[in-house]
Amino acid sequence: MSVRMVLMGPPGAGKGTQAVRLAERFGVPAISTGDIFRANIAGGTELGREAVEYTSKGLLVPDSLTDALVSDRLAQPDAAQGFILDGYPRNVDQVAALDALLAGWDQELDVVIEIAADPEVVIDRLVKRAVIEGRADDTEEVIRERLQVYFEQTLPLAEVYVSRGVLAPVDGIGAIDEVTDRLVAAAEPFLASL
Ligand code: ADP
Repeated sequence: MSVRMVLMGPPGAGKGTQAVRLAERFGVPAISTGDIFRANIAGGTELGREAVEYTSKGLLVPDSLTDALVSDRLAQPDAAQGFILDGYPRNVDQVAALDALLAGWDQELDVVIEIAADPEVVIDRLVKRAVIEGRADDTEEVIRERLQVYFEQTLPLAEVYVSRGVLAPVDGIGAIDEVTDRLVAAAEPFLASL
């Protein structure tokens, strides 16, 4: 069985938390571009030095860097049977890059789940998370920029995936377990061989 899933949704919708749970449930890795950038920034790599110029402002890291890192990560053996992608693709050009990458392996996405959450709820969640986790891009100003980038560049992807018949919208407001159950229920019809 393969599970090739993309999770989209505004910052603070709970993608990271849910991606890890879905990865356990389906036995495939959760791959978060945001986590990979943060690890590189913390490790002081060249990629980290370039990425932080953008992440610190809430802007998208250039596609050339992002597409290359996703290509490397998806080529790892643990992703051969599938993946839960969290935070990628995030604009229409990244959709095309992912399509081309997967096509080269004779693969395609099974399902794209859009986790919906009210902007005011997510701002509140992220401002609280900032106190706990101390993420550098969780200041209110940068959060608002990330939300704007989401609505302008990422939300249009929902239409693209609707037209392909692979989009499943899920309400992200509720207890963590409850949302996981909703996500699994929404994904299952798309996973033919389950
Ligand atoms: P959130 O969804 O809460 O904004 P992420 O951890 O997914 O946080 O991403 C943090 C930052 O990493 C983004 O604001 C952006 O700068 C960068 N980033 C993550 N994924 C991508 C991507 N697919 N393309 C470009 N930049 C990205």
